[in-house]
Amino acid sequence: MKVIVLGSGIIGTASAWFLNKAGHDVTVIDRQPGAAQETSFANGCQISVSHAEPWANPAAPMKVLKWLGKEDAPLLYRFRPEWLQWKWALNFLRECTPGRTNENIHQIVALCEYSRQTLVGLRAETGIEYDNLNRGILHFYTDQKEFDDSLPAAKLMRDLGCPRDSISADEVVRIEPALASIRDKIVGGDFTANDESGDVYKFTSGLAQKSAAAGVNFQFNTTVTRLITEGTGASAKITGVEVITPEGRHEVLHADAFVLAMGSFSTALAKPLGIDLMIYPGKGYSATYKVTDTAAAPSVSLTDDGYKLVVSRLGDRLRVAGTCELNGYTRDLNTARCEAITRRTRELFPDACDYDNPTYWTGLRPLTPSNVPYIGKTKFSNLFLNTGHGTLGWTMGCGSGRALADIVSGHQPEVNFRFTGMPYQTSDRIITPQSITA
Ligand SMILES: Cc1cc2nc3c(=O)[nH]c(=O)nc-3n(C[C@H](O)[C@H](O)[C@H](O)COP(=O)(O)OP(=O)(O)OC[C@H]3O[C@@H](n4cnc5c(N)ncnc54)[C@H](O)[C@@H]3O)c2cc1C
Repeated sequence: MKVIVLGSGIIGTASAWFLNKAGHDVTVIDRQPGAAQETSFANGCQISVSHAEPWANPAAPMKVLKWLGKEDAPLLYRFRPEWLQWKWALNFLRECTPGRTNENIHQIVALCEYSRQTLVGLRAETGIEYDNLNRGILHFYTDQKEFDDSLPAAKLMRDLGCPRDSISADEVVRIEPALASIRDKIVGGDFTANDESGDVYKFTSGLAQKSAAAGVNFQFNTTVTRLITEGTGASAKITGVEVITPEGRHEVLHADAFVLAMGSFSTALAKPLGIDLMIYPGKGYSATYKVTDTAAAPSVSLTDDGYKLVVSRLGDRLRVAGTCELNGYTRDLNTARCEAITRRTRELFPDACDYDNPTYWTGLRPLTPSNVPYIGKTKFSNLFLNTGHGTLGWTMGCGSGRALADIVSGHQPEVNFRFTGMPYQTSDRIITPQSITA
């Protein structure tokens, strides 16, 4: 089958790799000059299976209210006259009930674990170098209440089979001695030895190169403008995708199947087809510093709970990422937010890096209210979704690509997940295309 994948972030690229492996003739289209140039470019780089709790949880509404209007708040909601944003916020509140949170955690953990196994296999098969470290993720707390509140979540993760150990402040510093300078502020932590970190851009662009060598056709500098449909009801299908070529010409490309993997921009493409994807962009920041003193810099991937920042060592670089701003599709750098990241990193590791020459970046997390992505079928027989991976697209990416390739090929994926338009094994509940058009 000829398959066109729209988007070459981690999700589109992993989809293309596995579709090619399944024997399909694959073309990937992206408006950027190469793979992984948007949200999959400079994120936090954690493969964070055991910290997969969604932002929508019973404690979230109060926290969001507390942070309203604070320029350097970890999560900042800027109200806009935009229906999608308000509808998204209402759906987010709905996902904060204990029952919904519990269901979402189950979905996310299943997909993340499957994805980590897939990443391990891909790493062995392809030999891609991406500054990965298999030293676990250490989440540390500086607020006693936050630490106490984290204990049930850690137990839930353990019950789901993710080893997440709640540990003392001394153990935190034993695992990551670079935190010694703030030992007196740390109240405890949790350590997930199976988690990993690694450069998402290096991995994705490496996988794109390997895919191209295996026969995948990448058409870069090509902007997707619309999908063209034919038929109604059960016979409705996509006949082509309209693009603007690098030379500025409008062209229609044809294929047997189409995969929508355009992150936050999937919503606008799907909307005219009557598919209302509940994906809103959550702008996040990262700062990358050159490490100048290797012993003073952390080598275990960290999460600083108080500041909602993640820290990953990428060879001779330190990546610090976090914060979320719900404010439309702008990727502008806000100086207050950038400076807040550098201030905190300098406080944590005063002698580790060259803090005078940071590289700042923003990206748009494709957030669904539940943080559960859309993967699967639609009401168009040959249109498939792989989008809305929110805060965990790197963690879920390889498994999402593999599962999607199974679905396009007519097979049931090996992971038990709520795929759209497919039976869900645990409850035998069918997620109908209508449930994603509501
Ligand atoms: C600050 C920050 C930190 C993060 N940290 C982590 C982390 O530690 N671990 C983790 O698992 N996840 C993390 N994430 C989330 C993760 O980065 C995303 O979920 C993931 O990158 C989404 O991948 P994607 O392929 O869906 O989207 P993208 O990477 O954005 O890819 C979409 C592609 O579609 C293309 N495109 C869009 N519109 C068009 C168009 N009209 N025509 C042609 N092409 C188009 C874009 O150019 C882009 O290449 C973080 C995100 C941010 C912002």
